Amino acid sequence: MSNSGFASQNGAGGTYTNGPSPNPVAFYPSNQGYVPPTQAAYMNSMLAKAPTPPGPNTSHHQPLPVGMTQHSPQPVSLHASPNHRTAQAAASQSSPSPLLSNSYYQHPQQPPSWQYGGTPPPVANHVSSSLSTAPQQPSYSSGTSTPPVFQNTMQPVGPVPPYSSLSNAAVSAAPALNAVAPQTHHLYGHPPTAGPAAMRGTPPPPGPPTAAVPPPPLATHNDAGSYSTPPGQINRPVGTAYPSIQPTLYQSMPGMQTSPHMHPTAQLSSAVPQQYQQPSFSTAQLSPSLAGLSLHSETPEALRVVNLLQERNLLPSGTVTAPTPCLPQDLQKVNCSPEVFRCTLTSIPQTQSLLNKAKLPLGLLLHPFKDLSQLPVVTSSNIVRCRSCRTYINPFVTFMDQRKWKCNLCYRVNDVPEEFMYNPVSRSYGSPHKRPEVQNATIEFIAPSEYMLRPPQPAVYLFVLDVSHNAVETGYLDVVCQSLLDNIDTLPGDTRTKIGFITFDSTVHFYNLQEGLSQPQMLIVSDIEDVFIPLSDSLLINLKEGKELVQDLLKSMPQMFSKTMETQSALGPALQAAFKLLSPTGGRMSVFQTQLPTLGAGALQPREEPSQKASAKDIQHLAPATDFYKKLALDCSGQQVAVDLFLLSAQYCDLASLGCISRYSAGSVYYYPSYHNQHNPSQTERFQKDLKRYLTRKVGFEAVMRIRCTKGLSIHTFHGNFFVRSTDLLSLPNVNPDAGFAVQMSIDENLLDMQAVSFQAALLYTSSKGERRIRVHTLCLPVVNSLSDIFAGADVQAVTCLLASMAVDRSVSASLSDARDALTNAAIDSLTSYRTSVLTIQQPGLLAPACLRLFPLYVLALLKHKAFRTGNSTRLDDRVFAMCQLKYQPLEYLMLMVHPALYRVDNLTDEGALNVNDRTIPQPRVLQLSVEKLSREAAFLMDSGTAMYLWIGRNCSPVFITEVLGVQSYAAIPQSMNQLPELDTAESSKIRAFIDWLRERRPFYPTLHIIRDESQLKSDFMQNMIEDRTESALSYYEFLLHLQQQVSK
Ligand SMILES: [Zn+2]
Repeated sequence: MSNSGFASQNGAGGTYTNGPSPNPVAFYPSNQGYVPPTQAAYMNSMLAKAPTPPGPNTSHHQPLPVGMTQHSPQPVSLHASPNHRTAQAAASQSSPSPLLSNSYYQHPQQPPSWQYGGTPPPVANHVSSSLSTAPQQPSYSSGTSTPPVFQNTMQPVGPVPPYSSLSNAAVSAAPALNAVAPQTHHLYGHPPTAGPAAMRGTPPPPGPPTAAVPPPPLATHNDAGSYSTPPGQINRPVGTAYPSIQPTLYQSMPGMQTSPHMHPTAQLSSAVPQQYQQPSFSTAQLSPSLAGLSLHSETPEALRVVNLLQERNLLPSGTVTAPTPCLPQDLQKVNCSPEVFRCTLTSIPQTQSLLNKAKLPLGLLLHPFKDLSQLPVVTSSNIVRCRSCRTYINPFVTFMDQRKWKCNLCYRVNDVPEEFMYNPVSRSYGSPHKRPEVQNATIEFIAPSEYMLRPPQPAVYLFVLDVSHNAVETGYLDVVCQSLLDNIDTLPGDTRTKIGFITFDSTVHFYNLQEGLSQPQMLIVSDIEDVFIPLSDSLLINLKEGKELVQDLLKSMPQMFSKTMETQSALGPALQAAFKLLSPTGGRMSVFQTQLPTLGAGALQPREEPSQKASAKDIQHLAPATDFYKKLALDCSGQQVAVDLFLLSAQYCDLASLGCISRYSAGSVYYYPSYHNQHNPSQTERFQKDLKRYLTRKVGFEAVMRIRCTKGLSIHTFHGNFFVRSTDLLSLPNVNPDAGFAVQMSIDENLLDMQAVSFQAALLYTSSKGERRIRVHTLCLPVVNSLSDIFAGADVQAVTCLLASMAVDRSVSASLSDARDALTNAAIDSLTSYRTSVLTIQQPGLLAPACLRLFPLYVLALLKHKAFRTGNSTRLDDRVFAMCQLKYQPLEYLMLMVHPALYRVDNLTDEGALNVNDRTIPQPRVLQLSVEKLSREAAFLMDSGTAMYLWIGRNCSPVFITEVLGVQSYAAIPQSMNQLPELDTAESSKIRAFIDWLRERRPFYPTLHIIRDESQLKSDFMQNMIEDRTESALSYYEFLLHLQQQVSK
């Protein structure tokens, strides 16, 4: 690729990437050194010390489905670079002298100089190629009088099963803050984007770089008895409604009726001309109300000033909930659920410069294919979309009259098709705004044929299994084969479903499952340099027809290799073979690997430095060692093949390299360190539960997801597992219900005339039954013009999760210490902005608006998270996996991994308990993560997402120990205990009900560890005590003092 191509692409839109670039190498064809050649051209010349951002990706070997435009995976930006601010800061600061006002932002409205190419950013939502190539908006003319057939069924999409999965990312240890030199690192470095960046130097935490010296004076928070306070609530949205906004957008004009029963035509038509000249509501109308709301009326709870140094008890007693956007009630009532679609700022700034001032990132967090208990499904021959930008009609469009609707993304006025006049729900005619499409922000369509590039593919499953000596020794093969046997009838699919198996060690083995054979035939290909498919058609067979052979194979496979002495691993050639096998149809490849690949393409070398202590030096090898896996993933993506990787290993496997196979093909990564059937029963249980969930959960094949937003906004960077096909289109060969995505946004054009903006994610996929479906989610948010309104709408959890993804990218593209500094700066910068620009009365202390009061705590939690911690040694694969989780897990699950929940459980009561399906679920209050909350007389449960720890105090009541653990005394508690016995006591029922309930609420299965003081895992438990200081990291109180010092500068 040429530089020019790159530049123009970037110029055109910012950068999009497939993630961070973990694989810089791939971007530059040749090398390994990953020299950032073009850097100067597109990045800020002031790059500071950090390495460079990943370059643009050049290669594409990606076959495209017809009609799709292909773009190469683009460079990543954000993360990518320490940007000019950094540099500037670094240059100007030898001493921690941060904050030179907003000098880091050059001109408020101008894109930073290092914005690529100078080409105006494209308007993302104008990219109109829609999900399908077919001509859309078919004519709805024809015989209009017949109402189309709609089926509007509420389909249960399936309960979210409990299971477990991924890893132990949550466990965090404590690294020291990088006390390094003051430099500035911001995650938002980029351009147009996201939030403003922060900018000042990031002062090192008070402590010296080495852990040894405790930070100064300050009282540790333990003795700061003074700051106890009322817990408040978190995130309350600002007021309820803007007085001047009309109740609905469907008929937004004053004077228009909202009543569905009125005949709108007459009234509307007269109003239309003047009213709709503006894209949306007039500014005049808007401003006064906003102003009144934010500043003059009483302070909303979200903006209540909190002195973090005094208010100690900030956690709500239960879950932290998402703020509610400040929209008129009837709009909010139909808005997209925060479980599916969240924005870091529930009030969108009018301009990029305003966003820059707030120093908060702007982005979306999505969980688009989440299992939903209710999902309206519509079958339609004519899916109504905007003719101009292809947006799907949604609750936030405006009906100008019965025959016209105005798009809420591009403002084009469209005709209402005749069929749309009929409402299949009420079976009435003439009220298009009552159609399910305009009543539901989340809806699914069964697509007509023009949404298909080819006949929908069948469900195809290929299992690629490591059968080397190392693999067999772990016993994992028994679990996989048994789990498949148990679930073979519940694999999603229909009569066309196909299945196949490949095993490998130093050679690659195929299995002929042709109908008529009396038993499966194994075919061995030993030429791993040029692996080929030995048979053309009976390696992937119809599951229904070949089920018996498949079952035979699964029953015999564990024994087939039980005596193997083969230690080599030709993973790369096995993957190449699997790719060839799946290419004609697409499908899902499930790969199980237990060691570092040693033979053929993709072979890797160990590169973990023993006992890497990250206190001063940065962690190396977070980026892939080879581009083999990324390239193969892109090939897979082009053929609609997703690769899911199950890594079960006691040794270093170079997950940073192997993980690329899943990341770019939209697969998932599962990691079971130290897996062994016998020696590690809790890990085995987790693997079994995860597999069951994996084998039976929904799968969407040959999927793409497009994210559109109101004109003026654009997408800057995507986070998650996928391949970016164009500015707003992600290629997802498979989509699963447990995948999360994040998107950073920028404001390219001022949103001056708008009262609200919308974001729409449309996921087009083929169901396992061969139906082409489109799931559409639309989120509407108000636009505001004051900093206080922006702060009032901040969603602290969404901000935290987006920052975490950005920091992962930064760790890979620059360095871990850059990423850590940037995280700290994000807290300093936003609180500084709040202090200097929002607060009118200065007061001492570290002040935060109530809605952001947990922000410093969450940032500290990230700094102590396994992904970013320094100080104590963390296995490289553990760290890389923690990073994968941060990019891939939906917010709902991720927050527990970042900030675990701690509960006292020896005195559970029914007070405030939930009643779920006749079970009483106690709801103990969430406690701060500090040893000072523990008591030797009690028992505590810590839930860190993928693991739970039940800590029993030495003096805990023997009654509790007997009734819950079934042993006589504290001393009798076994060293390794991973489940609670089912005892017929009230205490036992309560605690088990609570734990079961917690487990059911996530799609992966957290292990349970019962620990006491002597337990080996006690250190894992203690590492999650985020508020406490450790040998190498600050306590929460010390961290606050550090922030205060920086904010006050
Ligand atoms: Zn439009």
